Amino acid sequence: MTVKFRFAPSPTGYLHVGNARLALINWLSARKQGGGMVLRLDDTDQERSTEEYAEGIKEDLLWLGLEWSELKKQSDRSAAYTKAFEMLRDAGRLYPCYETGEELDYKRKRQLARKLPPVYDRAALDLKAEDVAAFEAEGRKPHWRFKLDQELISWIDLVRGKVEVDGASMSDPVLIRSDGRPLYHLPSVVDDIDFEISHVIRGEDHVSNTALHIQVFKALGADVPEFAHLPLLMGPDGGPLSKREGSQSLRELRESGIEPMTVNSLLARLGTSDNVEIRHTLADVVDGYDISHFSRAAAKFDPAELANLNAKLLHETNWQDVKDRIDVDGADETFWNAVRGNLTTLAEAREWWQIVSGPMTPAIEDEEFLLSAAEVLPDGELTIDSWKVWTTAVKEKTGAKGKALFMPLRLALTGKPRGPEMNSLLPLIGRDQIMARLTGNGA
Ligand code: GLU
Repeated sequence: MTVKFRFAPSPTGYLHVGNARLALINWLSARKQGGGMVLRLDDTDQERSTEEYAEGIKEDLLWLGLEWSELKKQSDRSAAYTKAFEMLRDAGRLYPCYETGEELDYKRKRQLARKLPPVYDRAALDLKAEDVAAFEAEGRKPHWRFKLDQELISWIDLVRGKVEVDGASMSDPVLIRSDGRPLYHLPSVVDDIDFEISHVIRGEDHVSNTALHIQVFKALGADVPEFAHLPLLMGPDGGPLSKREGSQSLRELRESGIEPMTVNSLLARLGTSDNVEIRHTLADVVDGYDISHFSRAAAKFDPAELANLNAKLLHETNWQDVKDRIDVDGADETFWNAVRGNLTTLAEAREWWQIVSGPMTPAIEDEEFLLSAAEVLPDGELTIDSWKVWTTAVKEKTGAKGKALFMPLRLALTGKPRGPEMNSLLPLIGRDQIMARLTGNGA
């Protein structure tokens, strides 16, 4: 059996961490089972969907390396939705309703006041031809509700196990608005049928939608796909993700210097029983990935964990894999190996390149000490051993030791109190610049 997954964002904003996680998990599941992933743009909300967001979503997915096998847009599919509407209407599964929003509100409030569940009372099913004629004469247009079978709806969820929802506890949902536009449910099911989706993986906010969708699949005479509902991501304190903590967009993460494989490494394992480890390729992420490892408990997303992983990833990254992205002229493998262990983002490598290649501003406290140090800089080519030889000589000459010896030299040569090992930096900065920085003759 061929499997097919789908990721179905609405292009009403850029992707955030929560969306990226769903895209990744669909992609990994497809890859693991040898199937494709459809990218479905849920752009039926014409006011809020934009081409710019649609392009942004594609760009962000490609940045993560999550290619889709087919691209579909709901805005191209209205004929299919109309056909499904007619089929359900003719089968008696859709019925026209004329209540206004205010009338529905009033009904709900009355039910709540009587401690009854606020379920739609199906009053529209009892409308007589003359009632309908009167509404139409007033200029009211109907919205259409799906008549749920009032029975237990159940499925074996790939994450949650057996799920049961009582159809009788739900309101008959509105599938078509009074302006004729379908709401999310019908297009989603029709697309899942037409695109032959075998597995629907989405957030647990869709669990009750799935109960409804299962009845719609059946009413349209289609097979019901497999479902998996992932718990939502929470912030580090267990509350909803705040903007600062990662409801931030992927593009903001990218701009802040987070690497795509850091995001993939974390999101593929967050909320599972597996350890989060750095993986350098998506193929490595697929290795050991299993949807059944996800727990039903909410997963906590901690931006500090992402930053730590990003540092770890850079520390392990080879020159070959960054040289096309580092974007500074002259940087080479020796430079990369000297600085990578100190980086939390790639942008910092660019700052370090500026420091070693100059110009930069030395931080100088004791000019005399630095002049003495300059006098004993070893002759000949500077190597990885020169720092040791040099600082031993400076110690002998000045009597300084420990921090008092190393810190003024580091500050003068790099302008910073911390950074990569000085023995690696020394040959990179080079004799001329070292002398200039120590003696204050240019930098
Ligand atoms: N556009 C819907 C959403 O973003 C899709 C949900 C689904 O996967 O069916 O919530």
